[in-house]
Amino acid sequence: MSERYIKTDSGSSVYISLPKECPRCHIGIQPNYLYAHVYENANHQNLCTAIFKCPVCEDLFMATFLIDKMRHYIFMKECGPAEEKRKEFDTNLQKISPKFCEIYNEALIAEGKGLREICGIGYRKALEFLIKDYLIENNPSEKETIKKSYLGKCIKDYIDDPNIKTLAEKTAWLGNDETHFLRTYDDMDTVETMKRFINAILYFIETQLAIAEAGQIQPKKQKKS
Ligand SMILES: [Zn+2]
Repeated sequence: MSERYIKTDSGSSVYISLPKECPRCHIGIQPNYLYAHVYENANHQNLCTAIFKCPVCEDLFMATFLIDKMRHYIFMKECGPAEEKRKEFDTNLQKISPKFCEIYNEALIAEGKGLREICGIGYRKALEFLIKDYLIENNPSEKETIKKSYLGKCIKDYIDDPNIKTLAEKTAWLGNDETHFLRTYDDMDTVETMKRFINAILYFIETQLAIAEAGQIQPKKQKKS
């Protein structure tokens, strides 16, 4: 049932189409209707704003419908507050670098809001946490040195995997470009390229983490019957 009558705060009924997706968690849902108000705005449009509760994230959101004289909706004008989609990371990766996951998603939100100058710096910072946490995981005795060293030196001295090394080095170059007054790589979309490279690094790191996890699984002894 995606279309239905709802009872507004004045007791009247309005025919609306239920939002198909929660604007906060972006999951397709059948929202629970809570409250609605019908009013005329300054442009003399007849509107109905309804409040719903998402059964998945359990937060409230609001949808505004343009309605006709018969109190039937014409279309849904807006639905919010819109929250940016977040990237879901592999559980092994979340364990070794929760800060990377957090910073990457903040950069993604900045990018979603059109803050191109800020998000590049965010991706550069995310890269630093990803690489350093990955290196600390593989070299726990070097933790203090890795924490204090420049990212470029960490990449040069500690990364053995040639794939991750190339990708991390070039992502750092592009990331540094985002933080400096003068751009060196002004002939490419550095933010988009950094994101693609970071995702490629994630592929290799997540594969290594999965292999390490698989190596921990021991054969179970068969029970004698
Ligand atoms: Zn939701």
